[in-house]
Amino acid sequence: MKKNKNINYKIFPDKNGRFGKFGGRFVAETLMPLLLKVEEEYKKAKNSKKFKSKLKYYFESYIGRPSPLYLAERLSSKLNGAKLYLKRDELNHTGAHKINNCVGQILLAMQMGKQRIVAETGAGQHGLATATVCALFNLNCVIYMGEVDIKRQAPNVFKMKLLGAQIQPVKSGRATLKDAMNEALRDWVSNVKDTFYVIGTAAGPHPYPMMVRDFQSVIGDEAKKQILKYEKRLPNYLVACIGGGSNALGLFYSFLNDYDVKILGVEAGGEGVNSKKHAASLAKGKPGFLHGNYTYLLQDPNGQINDAHSISAGLDYPGIGPEHSWLKEIGRVKYVSATDKEALSAFKLCSKLEGIIPALEPSHALAYLIKNSKKFSKKDIIIMNMCGRGDKDIFAISDKLGVKV
Ligand SMILES: *Cc1c(COP(=O)(O)O)cnc(C)c1O
Repeated sequence: MKKNKNINYKIFPDKNGRFGKFGGRFVAETLMPLLLKVEEEYKKAKNSKKFKSKLKYYFESYIGRPSPLYLAERLSSKLNGAKLYLKRDELNHTGAHKINNCVGQILLAMQMGKQRIVAETGAGQHGLATATVCALFNLNCVIYMGEVDIKRQAPNVFKMKLLGAQIQPVKSGRATLKDAMNEALRDWVSNVKDTFYVIGTAAGPHPYPMMVRDFQSVIGDEAKKQILKYEKRLPNYLVACIGGGSNALGLFYSFLNDYDVKILGVEAGGEGVNSKKHAASLAKGKPGFLHGNYTYLLQDPNGQINDAHSISAGLDYPGIGPEHSWLKEIGRVKYVSATDKEALSAFKLCSKLEGIIPALEPSHALAYLIKNSKKFSKKDIIIMNMCGRGDKDIFAISDKLGVKV
């Protein structure tokens, strides 16, 4: 990684929303003015004391930030003596990191005078966080969700309805996340006057990947302060799971220019990256265009987007945020994977050893560490993003856990 020591990673994207050759804003003409307006308003917000103090207020008093950085001693004992710290974003209101971004984007929507929020959701976690913040601020909320996902994610659908959101079933394409995102974009273009589109991960056209990363980077900002307080030094490793990439960038961003910190992103290996059933866009995909940006995608030789597969619905996206594609190519972050099976074992282990039932998504990050424990030593400090709790997962996987009740 030495050769990249002169790069200031934190000044990206450039003014065109590019991370190297990735990212950008490849959209229909009808969408362009909307994106330019969001970018302009976001710039204003970023420099506004009032916006920043509002964001801080809701982060602290509504989400429950800062989240603790917890030394997981019993898990550490499985990592060849390395010290494993968990950044506990699973303790946030609604149970995951998603709400950091929703509060940020919805405060921006209100600054722009919008009364109606649209969002897409796959597993329902982003829909749930969006519906929650819309309830808080008394905004109309429409959640686009594939029909297939509506059936798979009944508890989250129920919660969103309870919070007052309208669920808009999507039948087009394969009726999953990718199609829901297309429909939400279409809605936004037709209702631009009163509507704001909240994207749930660090993907989509500029300025979304940058904006989502910025709102999530509170995770790494806090973790850095916390580890310096506890250990008086920076960690050797950061690790996080990768769906679209927002929780990972949230942790990584603060440390990108700390060149001695090694950074690992863990993709969902499904039934194995050499099978057809996985979600490892960086390991097995190729660059292409989806949702207004250029990035790594799972696609067939004709450029059709392939279905992603993972035991965790939150990692089940055939693309990846463009900043990750760039960080991979430039070599700043190492991207690896863990399979469904490995994630399930890590899920059980974490529950038993730490009394923390993790979401299946961060279980992938833990699984990678466990699988590679021999690579670590007593001198190592690792920070892992515990980006969600497992409540949403336990019933879907109960048959696979072998737990008798
Ligand atoms: C949505 C979700 C993810 C995947 O999204 P990223 O943008 O990659 O963070 C990971 N973990 C949890 C708990 C989620 O809810």
